[in-house]
Amino acid sequence: NREWHLLSRPAGWPKPEDFALVETEVEQPGPGQVLVRNQYLSVDPYMRGRMSAAKSYVAPYELGEPMQGGAVGEVVASNAEGFAVGDHVLHFLGWREYAVVAAKQAVKVDPEAAPLSTYLGALGMTGLTAYAGLLRVGAFKEGDAVFVSGAAGAVGSQVGQIAKLKGASRVIGSAGSDEKVKLLVEEYGFDAAFNYKNGPVWEQLKEAAPDGIDVYFDNVGGEHLEAAIGALNLRGRVVICGMISQYNATEPTPGPRNMVKILQNRLRVEGVLVGDHYDLQSEFVQEVGPWIRSGEMKYRETVVEGIENNLEAFLGVLRGDNTGKMIVKL
Ligand code: NDP
Repeated sequence: NREWHLLSRPAGWPKPEDFALVETEVEQPGPGQVLVRNQYLSVDPYMRGRMSAAKSYVAPYELGEPMQGGAVGEVVASNAEGFAVGDHVLHFLGWREYAVVAAKQAVKVDPEAAPLSTYLGALGMTGLTAYAGLLRVGAFKEGDAVFVSGAAGAVGSQVGQIAKLKGASRVIGSAGSDEKVKLLVEEYGFDAAFNYKNGPVWEQLKEAAPDGIDVYFDNVGGEHLEAAIGALNLRGRVVICGMISQYNATEPTPGPRNMVKILQNRLRVEGVLVGDHYDLQSEFVQEVGPWIRSGEMKYRETVVEGIENNLEAFLGVLRGDNTGKMIVKL
């Protein structure tokens, strides 16, 4: 078994020396446990937060211990009732080839119903984040104009498409390359999109949304958030889902300078944490699953192969190498 350990807490951009790929013996499952051969590992922006010691909504990774993350794999030995060799499970002991998982913390998934990797993305954690964030926290309603940043990523691409499928008047996305922008408009059906690297966000947003926006789904923070606050209409809503532009910052980052707009336009700004919304999981799968099967909703995955490339895949998410969900295939 090979597994990734965190050796030191990164300052700024994580460096290879902060991590090690360690060889260990494969353990056998104890009572109530299963041994899983991982097939797909998730790498996600929130993992950067767990590499730091700062208090947050999930505990920091321990130094000298294997890191964790979403994973899907096959049960190869079972010491737990209800789990058989050959079952496929979703669990949270990623960043390794083999995992001994408490059956209580494993959820069976059906490889016939959907490709296994989608349980980490389009039908999994990132999909639910998009669904709950837009519909519940963002209180999206038909006719709203929606702006989403990180729009070609896992969460963002589903936010835009859910909004479109549910009758948004206009959906605008931003992303970090011209190819991603093209994909948003030509394949995902966004009404407008722009490359935030090509000019000031506020200027490009104004052009893309001349009548303003009603919901801003924030994956990025910083300049995007300020621009969106400036573009929101009366009683607009901001869903704070992530602030990836700041995850490697070593200094406190400046806030939006136009907060008075929150007062003037009676805006609501609220954070979303996917873990608070698992009660929507079955409703989400019932509504979004058929859209994916029918092709009404498109999704992409960027797949990197091999446990030895797990770290590079993670760094790639922070750099924007991915289109759609970044997955490591073992
Ligand atoms: P993505 O698939 O969107 O990957 C991250 C993307 O962020 C990259 O592809 C890159 O795309 C973009 N990015 C990187 N740096 C910057 C920057 N400086 N400015 C603008 N964009 C940047 O990841 P996810 O869909 O998994 O996550 C999206 C966001 O949602 C993240 O902020 C994440 O932390 C958050 N999240 C929050 C959850 C919650 O419960 N609150 C749950 C899941 C995710 P590009 O080429 O466009 O720059």
